[in-house]
Amino acid sequence: MGDLLITTPAARQVIDTFFYDLPYVIALPVAFLLLAILLVYASRASEARRLYVALLQYLVVFMLWTTADSNIVHEAFLTDEFWRHASMAMLYLVPVSGNYVGYAALEPERRRGVLAVIAGNIACFFLATVSEAFGFDGYARLLPILYGTLPFLEGYVFWQLWRSARLGNRNSWSMLFPFVLVTVLGVVDGVNEAAHFTAMPTHVMPFGVFSFFIVVMQFLQDRLVREHSLEDATVHLAYQAAIAQERAEVDVLTGCRNRLSFEMTLREEITAVRQSGRPLAFLMFDIDHFKNYNDTYGHEAGDEVLRRFAGTVRQMLDKRKPFFRWGGEEFIVLCSGADLDEAAVLGNTIRRRVGESVVVCGQHVTVSIGASTWHGSFDTAEKLFQRADAALYEAKGDGRNCLRVEPPAKTAQGG
Ligand code: GH3
Ligand code: MG
Ligand code: MG
Repeated sequence: MGDLLITTPAARQVIDTFFYDLPYVIALPVAFLLLAILLVYASRASEARRLYVALLQYLVVFMLWTTADSNIVHEAFLTDEFWRHASMAMLYLVPVSGNYVGYAALEPERRRGVLAVIAGNIACFFLATVSEAFGFDGYARLLPILYGTLPFLEGYVFWQLWRSARLGNRNSWSMLFPFVLVTVLGVVDGVNEAAHFTAMPTHVMPFGVFSFFIVVMQFLQDRLVREHSLEDATVHLAYQAAIAQERAEVDVLTGCRNRLSFEMTLREEITAVRQSGRPLAFLMFDIDHFKNYNDTYGHEAGDEVLRRFAGTVRQMLDKRKPFFRWGGEEFIVLCSGADLDEAAVLGNTIRRRVGESVVVCGQHVTVSIGASTWHGSFDTAEKLFQRADAALYEAKGDGRNCLRVEPPAKTAQGG
């Protein structure tokens, strides 16, 4: 029964048609897949855009040619005549399109010769189409010219690609193998069709599309490498920016946060207490008779006082109490979540510790402190600051080395 099936002429024809179409049927989805991948990347690629576009158009021409050459479409749509013409026209256009890819891959100074080759390809296509249109069977007649010149013209393009690849052009390198392969396979098909070396015509050229996987893979790999190096650069930049910001906000001499940082932090704290209603206290420090250290022992001794004072205070503070050098020998501690009494206790503890342990040039360093607290929604950063400053002034007036708090808030008096 099986023997009978394949020995009838109709069954033989079906099998022949199947094998004739097989290369095209296989190549078409592959070309389509590559096209889809390229489309995704071409829409983003900035550099090498010309090459992406060239490859895209090549794959489209390749797919059109493959479609026109397969039997299935001949049976399904339009006339057999139409598809034969389309297939021949595409055969003349494949080199035009392929050489344009080479053109796009090459450096500008190597493109002139390739442009001349493309012009030759187009002339050949034009001549064949016109003479076909006038009934001179141009497509078939010019085939020997097409196939005869192909080795020389393509040879020239490949030579240019080879030279450019050897000088390090990765695009030229990756184009070389697929295009040489497709051309060789095309020549095998063409020469075999003309000279009948095998009993059946061969159709190996469509398989050449697989070699374009190399190109697409290389594109993807290049892109990954580029993205990774961009990522590294971004992380590095973010790190540098963090360091720069840290530097911009830290006082070099004392390691305290500086005035800029103070302004920003105070605003943030006030926004936070406005929302949460939690207390916020403000301690302003001024080292007593600091000028004397400078005048008596020199500026370096003054700096040492500032460093030692800051180091001592920092050890006594937790994260919720940022410490700033406001300027000169004046420092500020913001006591987030602390009321005035708690801040005063902390301030006095600091004051005593400084008086006991900070000794420079045999002199005990002392500090005066003014404390203020946040009064609620009608209060402002400026007033908070001024009340602490006024309290500090009072501490200085009361003999220094002491802490004074802001006067109690005035309550509304009934008429
Ligand atoms: P008081 O007890 O009233 O606060 O007197 P004081 O001497 O501490 O205050 P005054 O404002 O008269 O002097 C502050 C001095 O601090 C003046 C300035 O030259 C000095 N100064 C400011 N910044 C620095 C600095 O970074 N290093 C040193 N060594 N001195 C500084
Ligand atoms: Mg001062
Ligand atoms: Mg002072």
